[in-house]
Amino acid sequence: MRWVLCPICDRRCGVIYLHHGRFGCRQCHGVVAATQRENRRTRLFRREADIRRRLGWPVGVFDMSLGKPRYMRWSTFAALTAELLEVSSLATGLIEEWTAKAEKVF
Ligand SMILES: [Zn+2]
Repeated sequence: MRWVLCPICDRRCGVIYLHHGRFGCRQCHGVVAATQRENRRTRLFRREADIRRRLGWPVGVFDMSLGKPRYMRWSTFAALTAELLEVSSLATGLIEEWTAKAEKVF
């Protein structure tokens, strides 16, 4: 067996993978992928909370009847609710993806 050094973690490993333009062992790519997913989820949740705060809407609810803040322009309101809907569905998708993986482990 020929060993190679992983350029990311410097561990000896049997196989080096090229993934998204980076060389690394399987373990490193697993860690990198998990971190990227985690960052993406954090960004989505932060953006969602941000929009809700501007709208004055409670967390976890998408209800158009909650209405527009009195001093907000309709165009702003329309843009924010459209973005919130998209961000929420993306975040929900990530949670479902994560749940599906978690179930496979246990
Ligand atoms: Zn590595």
